[in-house]
Amino acid sequence: HGFFEHHKHNEQYYDDHGHHDDHAVGGPSAKQLIGEALRQRVENIDHENCDPGEEDTFFVADLGEVYRQHLRWKLNLPRVKPFYAVKCNPDQKVLQLLSALGTGFDCASKAEIEQVLQMGVDPSRIIYAQPCKTNSYVRYVASHGVRQMTFDNADELRKIARLFPTAELYLRILTDDSSSLCRLSLKFGASLDSTDELLALASELGLNVVGVSFHVGSGASDPLAFLKAVRDAHVVFQQAAAYGFNLKTLDVGGGFCSDNTFEEMAHVLRSALDDYFPAHSGINLIAEPGRFYVSDAFTIACNVIARRTIQDSSANRHGNMGVNDDASYMVYVNDGLYGNFSSIMFDHQHPEAKVLRAGGQTMYDTAAADATTAPNGVEYSIWGPTCDGIDRIMESTRFNVVLDVGDWIYFEEMGAYTKCSATTFNGFSNEHDVIYVCSEPGAKALLDMH
Ligand code: PLP
Repeated sequence: HGFFEHHKHNEQYYDDHGHHDDHAVGGPSAKQLIGEALRQRVENIDHENCDPGEEDTFFVADLGEVYRQHLRWKLNLPRVKPFYAVKCNPDQKVLQLLSALGTGFDCASKAEIEQVLQMGVDPSRIIYAQPCKTNSYVRYVASHGVRQMTFDNADELRKIARLFPTAELYLRILTDDSSSLCRLSLKFGASLDSTDELLALASELGLNVVGVSFHVGSGASDPLAFLKAVRDAHVVFQQAAAYGFNLKTLDVGGGFCSDNTFEEMAHVLRSALDDYFPAHSGINLIAEPGRFYVSDAFTIACNVIARRTIQDSSANRHGNMGVNDDASYMVYVNDGLYGNFSSIMFDHQHPEAKVLRAGGQTMYDTAAADATTAPNGVEYSIWGPTCDGIDRIMESTRFNVVLDVGDWIYFEEMGAYTKCSATTFNGFSNEHDVIYVCSEPGAKALLDMH
């Protein structure tokens, strides 16, 4: 892949915070492509006469962003092969691009495994990284050549001994996930007190333990969690050797954020790996990043379906009765917590609205689109379309423009744990169009090829 060779030397490609410089590549920038896709779509809707659904929420996905994240991964963690966590966003085009880039895939269910296999991905590029598996799924993977899977308890070992005794097993250990957005160690991971016993049982059952895995929690923020986990994994490698297992692979899981914490996280992890699992040890290193790849690649646009004016009573006392200047508004859009904003509930996110179109003007990526901190900005709360009071996207934000029914707002960084956990509550569809753009010619070439 000549592209990587070329950009390895292109240090200014990311700024100091790891952000991509839109103009480094030439051609239209990512923002221009996304903006044009958003504009065309919303300007082509006849809001007065359209059929139900034509004004539905939609996404614009920039596959170039996924490609750049892969490059960023390679630059920062060159020894670690990523197995993309499909659960995070099983978008078919994202999976196709990642498959073309040569990543592996972390799958957690039969449906995810099937989706990846149907793309022609070799089963050896899949890890069934769910320590508590469904019996029939284990039989399914056994008959489809997917051998790698995780376990963290004795019952699971007995299940695997019965259903797939030749599987390649990773012992998932517990980590300190206290500083992550979504904690996982409450539910999964063997404590270091129990690993010796588990390895003894695996040996007794004649099973094939090939590695250790961990997950520091999704949306991790403490790089030291990686250091501790790598150190613990090293202890388990030695325990396993005492039982005659020759472990070959360490799986460092996911949890990496796409913001500027990634570089620091990767730095700490890289040096821990170099200390405990140096290149000459011959140990393979893999990871299961999800959000890192897709968070920033998806922008969502939502239509304002209703508005409720809240008159400011203090303004009335000052004799401004009837003048709307001091009003604030509740705006209701056609997507919410039960839909693609499920990330607010499940992933503890705080998406920030921007104005896409108001008063007949499209204003993506302009100063007018952004929230304002000026006290004379108009205040809004933003609500989803269902009948539940919990369905609120933003409690308060201010814009310099007045939003009304038919206008559009957008949210960036909506690629991770959004669409995949959307429901159809209240009969609102969770099938939303995705318009694909690609701000990287290299990614485009790969997609055209495959
Ligand atoms: N691997 C496993 C086993 C997970 O449970 C998760 C998320 O819950 C991931 C990988 C992906 O995590 P993230 O999207 O934070 O990288």
